[in-house]
Amino acid sequence: MTASQQSGFLNSRILKFNVGFLLAQSAGYQRATVLDLPRVRLADDLDLDYLQGELRFSRNSRGILVQGILETSVFTECSRCLSLFYAPVTVEIEELFEDHDTSLSSLESSSDAVYQVEETGMLDLAPLLREEVFLAVPMGLTCQPDCAGLCPECGQNLNEGTCNCMQDEIDPRFAVLAQLIEDDNE
Ligand SMILES: [Zn+2]
Ligand SMILES: [Zn+2]
Repeated sequence: MTASQQSGFLNSRILKFNVGFLLAQSAGYQRATVLDLPRVRLADDLDLDYLQGELRFSRNSRGILVQGILETSVFTECSRCLSLFYAPVTVEIEELFEDHDTSLSSLESSSDAVYQVEETGMLDLAPLLREEVFLAVPMGLTCQPDCAGLCPECGQNLNEGTCNCMQDEIDPRFAVLAQLIEDDNE
């Protein structure tokens, strides 16, 4: 049993697909596969609570085009209180994985494909999915719509309870007076 299985997460190796048989087909050939995975550790810095959707692999003249819309849930940090929570995210994928042989023979022509089918005929979706998930996570996510955030003074999570900082604060009406006393003491 591997470490990731012990922690209840699938290894990202589960996102390697054998597309060798697709490369042997002529352009236009398609194959779809349904993903329905429980917790996946996509990368050291990215855990997914689930990963569901359909992927379509299409053979074209340059390699394999991967398309799909995946529903997932990302372990992320609340922008207000910094607590960790799972946020649902939809990821749209449309990316060319260039055929290893094609990219070798077209070294001189400018190839703009970032991803490649490995020499073994395996297509590793994990690096692409990691990029796409990070892009799909909205900025400023909060753990709940009315997250109270952290106290700027003591760092207390105000969702869990109040702190004493507010009570100690000087009433703004007396702030001028306090300033005068301070000046007097100098
Ligand atoms: Zn929060
Ligand atoms: Zn406080």
